[in-house]
Amino acid sequence: MISLYDILEASNGQLFGEPAAQIFTDFCVDASSARENMLFLALKTDHGDTHHDIPEAIANGVAGIICMRPPEYDTYGVSVVLVRDTVDALLAWVQHVIGKLDVRVSVVAGSIGKSVTLEAIRQVLSTRYSAHAALIDVEGRLALPLALSRLSPSHQHVIVKLQPSQAGEMAAMVQAVQPEVAVITHLPGMEDGGTPDAEQQALMDYLSPTSLAILNYDLESARALSTTTRAQVRTIGIDTFGADMMAFNIVAGPDGTGFDLRYGGERFVGHWVPLLGKHLVYSVMAALTVGLHYGIPLEEGLKALKMLEPVPGRMNGLIGKNDSLLVDDTYAANPQSTLAALDWLSEVKHGRGRAIFVMGSIGEGEAARQGYRSVGRRAAEVVDVFITQGIDAAQAARSALDYGMDISRVRMTYNPHDTAALLEQQFKLNADDIVLLKGTAKAHIERVTRLLIKDPADNEKLVRGYDDPDAAVHFQPVRSNWVEIDATSLANNVRAMKALIGSKVSLMAVVKSDAYGHGAVSMSQTALLNGANYLGVSSMHEALELREAGIDAPILVMGYTPTYLAQQAVQHGITVTLYDLELARAFDRTARELNTRLRAHVKVDSGMGRLGIMPDDAVTLFRHLGALRHIEIEGIYTHFSAADEDPDYTAYQLDVFKSVYKPLQATTGVKFKYIHAANSAATIAHKEAHFNMVRVGLALYGMHPSDKVRLPEGFSPALTWKTAIAQVKTLPPDHAVGYGNTYTTRREERVGIIPVGYADGFRRAPEHWGEMLVHGVRVPIIGRVSMEKTVVSLAAVPDVAIGDEVVLLGRQGNDIITAEEVAARLGTINYEVVCNILPRMPRR
Ligand SMILES: *Cc1c(COP(=O)(O)O)cnc(C)c1O
Repeated sequence: MISLYDILEASNGQLFGEPAAQIFTDFCVDASSARENMLFLALKTDHGDTHHDIPEAIANGVAGIICMRPPEYDTYGVSVVLVRDTVDALLAWVQHVIGKLDVRVSVVAGSIGKSVTLEAIRQVLSTRYSAHAALIDVEGRLALPLALSRLSPSHQHVIVKLQPSQAGEMAAMVQAVQPEVAVITHLPGMEDGGTPDAEQQALMDYLSPTSLAILNYDLESARALSTTTRAQVRTIGIDTFGADMMAFNIVAGPDGTGFDLRYGGERFVGHWVPLLGKHLVYSVMAALTVGLHYGIPLEEGLKALKMLEPVPGRMNGLIGKNDSLLVDDTYAANPQSTLAALDWLSEVKHGRGRAIFVMGSIGEGEAARQGYRSVGRRAAEVVDVFITQGIDAAQAARSALDYGMDISRVRMTYNPHDTAALLEQQFKLNADDIVLLKGTAKAHIERVTRLLIKDPADNEKLVRGYDDPDAAVHFQPVRSNWVEIDATSLANNVRAMKALIGSKVSLMAVVKSDAYGHGAVSMSQTALLNGANYLGVSSMHEALELREAGIDAPILVMGYTPTYLAQQAVQHGITVTLYDLELARAFDRTARELNTRLRAHVKVDSGMGRLGIMPDDAVTLFRHLGALRHIEIEGIYTHFSAADEDPDYTAYQLDVFKSVYKPLQATTGVKFKYIHAANSAATIAHKEAHFNMVRVGLALYGMHPSDKVRLPEGFSPALTWKTAIAQVKTLPPDHAVGYGNTYTTRREERVGIIPVGYADGFRRAPEHWGEMLVHGVRVPIIGRVSMEKTVVSLAAVPDVAIGDEVVLLGRQGNDIITAEEVAARLGTINYEVVCNILPRMPRR
């Protein structure tokens, strides 16, 4: 229960205006999900200041607001509390209500299994007391008030997680809650360097002599903590004598874990809990120890734990499509917990069908590298199918391949739709399969679980809602601007294109130039899983990148392949483009030496004047090609120069092309498996140019070929280019902005500094982008665009703060900046706009 006067009293806050409501049902940190009678918290974070969301929160019915400066909005009928710092004020409130309600506090800290431990403690304490615990998926100090918002005078116990999000936070959290019992959860293994973590050390330092610390005896670093704390200590361990409580004879099963216990010289045999994973027996022992501390006999605690409900996202067994077993462990991950989950998988898979492991990121950067290697190695030993999703996790797939896992059992994907589609379509998920799903919060592997779940009613057993409003908050790009790709749009576009061309025409998805800036590997997978038959790239380099990612579909290099790359083409089964006899002979020699054949498509120049054999020379080329036995001519094609604007010229090119390939088929007897000519524009506007394959790029990315040739219904753009405000300030009149002082303020002007520039592909001259979106409003660029900085005028948008999202391309709120619009302003075409966004940009 949250009372206005508790907050005022605890926080030294000031009422702003007349008070209205005095009691609030809950705190609310996201204005878009605010409800009636809630108390909205205006917060300053790395991702902006939510002060400007106050009107939205009020519109959604909140009854109160805590903020750090007087709101310049109409707050009539709402209680407004002004504080110096919202989070500090709430921490003071936490301390105040805990003292006032006289509840006993247990805390859970540590690296793994905190939530299951918290639930287990609540389960045990609930046998005799009224115990409160709330699972809050937020890190740092703010989690405490959110966890205590529904604490009431009837509660005797409260259990909270302590999860600092930055160095030094633990001390403030411990002081606010003053725990009687502290559990530190750990897994023995890689992290045990013998020295305790500084935050855990801080927790121990702040415990009083009357409180109890519960530590893992199996871990050197945890034992070290027991020597420094003033609190009493109890230890728990698995298979190690010396711990106060010890579990042994642990048996893992697909629906629970069996174990025996030794405590106080007695044995308690044949117990069972519905938790998956040997490591969760530590949670069980911690809960039992807390129970003992508060007078709950062991037997009673054990009985209660048998009824423990699974916690969403923590080794939670669910029924998947085709009655497969999904084990959803998508709440959080690090290398140790991932290895522990794989241990569980290796124990339970016997007697069942395949052990399938779907893994997202389990950590970032240099520190996690070794973890990926170990996990890949273990996966190669344990699992039958290994699918990694995302750039980080792909390291584990490569490691599994290095350790000898067969390539047919390893896949790398980049979005949940592709992961789910692979499992369903290619690996034919069935009732004998066990699928373990794991990754960090940022990896959002629960989205895969959601796509694989059999009964939609089970959705509520998953962590993080699908349209998680703070999904972007979890994403913390290291670079200052980044690209977001909507994989669902891409998949829909591919399907729409398949529907347009019909079943008799094959679709070559053109993914050159990093899939027009959309990410070549992920786009290729999405295209192939949604009906594309062939991939088109411009160079061997691009083709090899796809092969390295495990993509085994046919790939045509549409550009020049030098002879020194012929060997790679042959070895990786890549199709080359032929238009010159000397090149063809060199390719043939290479293929002969390797004792195999090189696949090729011949390209005819039907009028574009670019790559391709001239029509008059085609007959001669083919006469000689007949003798090159190590080249397999699979197709013939041409390319239109004006399919988006000149139907007559396109018709002319079509005639030229036909006049070449038709007689060839007649005289030489070659039968082309693929005959193709149409790019996006011709595919849409010239059905007669489809032949039996089309080569489509632009349309798959949801962009219009031209003003004349527009995409039909069903296609949508998929790329959003974003950054965040770096600084907001007010310049005096007559102040210059940017290199060359090309802009001078006329009056006082509020400006935003944006961390993007021409080094990122954000054009400087002769014309620049013109506008960007901030809070859904168009703001003009002022002054010159620099290498990595740009300035905008914020005159039209109130309350902009550091960290607020800025959209350079794509949708924000109700407005959208399209590639076509930017192209018109830059004096170019939409293709160039998206391709120029630097490929080194993080994409997700
Ligand atoms: C890029 C390219 C395409 C695809 O063109 P879109 O207009 O993007 O559909 C097709 N064929 C060739 C040879 C290309 O180079």
